Amino acid sequence: MNESNLPDDHIRPQRLSDFIGQDDLRHNLDVFIQAARGRGTAMDHALFYGNPGLGKTTLARIISSELGVNLVSTSGPVIERSGDLAAILTNLSRNDILFIDEIHRVPSSVEEVLYPAMEDFNLDLIIGQGPAARTVKIDLEPFTLVGATTRLGLLTSPLRDRFGCIFRLEFYSPEELAHIVTRAARIFDLEVTDEGALMIGRRARGTPRIANRLLRRVRDYATVHGDGVVNAKIADMALDRLEVDPLGLDQMDRKILSVLIDQFGGGPVGVKTIAVACSEEVRTIEEIYEPYLIQCGFLKRTSRGRVATAKAYQHLQAHSGSKRLF
Ligand code: ADP
Repeated sequence: MNESNLPDDHIRPQRLSDFIGQDDLRHNLDVFIQAARGRGTAMDHALFYGNPGLGKTTLARIISSELGVNLVSTSGPVIERSGDLAAILTNLSRNDILFIDEIHRVPSSVEEVLYPAMEDFNLDLIIGQGPAARTVKIDLEPFTLVGATTRLGLLTSPLRDRFGCIFRLEFYSPEELAHIVTRAARIFDLEVTDEGALMIGRRARGTPRIANRLLRRVRDYATVHGDGVVNAKIADMALDRLEVDPLGLDQMDRKILSVLIDQFGGGPVGVKTIAVACSEEVRTIEEIYEPYLIQCGFLKRTSRGRVATAKAYQHLQAHSGSKRLF
């Protein structure tokens, strides 16, 4: 396989020492991992929350490799019935990691099975129906549940309270993203200058997954229009052509701001209306686009709806021009 076509998994950090940024989280997690390893017990259940692409799945994998135990991965919407979860839980070996992505989407009937499993490592299974139904208690091997969610607020409090550690993942700084880009380029066997990496880091919306994706696209431009090296000039040209502006806003971000400003006088306007006007799903707007627009100070969520800030007007004016398609 061509090095530069390596799938995402090859650039995913395997050890905590390769994981860049999120310093407080990393230090705390390091202590919990070392303590569990030292005692030979399962680590306490851990919940990671934050925007997509910030490293939640990566951290779950790192915990398993640092502890030298298996990782079993699933996701909330996939576990439809309590029997599905019971099958997974009874197959876990001692101290294994069970990773549930999008844990806020676990159905409530399944969630109830999780409570005794998390608390006492046992399952209460109901066998049979009607008057003949009886409960059977099954002991489980000790395990660590690692949950990931983009929406902490949608988790029920009984579930949230059963996690021993809750970690919030923050957006990354441009310098941290440049570091991530340089590391990925090394794995791709691709030459990238410090300025080129920083240019990508500045325009990656604070998100490692986007930084790695932009690196792949800039690399294509470097191959076709340059000498294969990702430098600031090539990165700038490629990102302009990809319509990623200097703050990392893409077409959809600008479309959201432009709908708010041009069609609704800056708001307040409901997210459903914005979603219809942008032909996008409400969930995608809320979970993927809005957090970064809020972080940049372009958009505010108010009780009456979304409002564009003065900064958003300035940004849209400065970075629209010929690229303003709507
Ligand atoms: P999430 O589960 O939060 O959506 P992932 O863990 O799948 O995000 O991360 C997306 C990609 O970003 C991964 O392929 C990984 O290579 C990269 N990545 C995420 N966080 C980091 C980090 N701190 N350091 C280096 N690469 C990272």
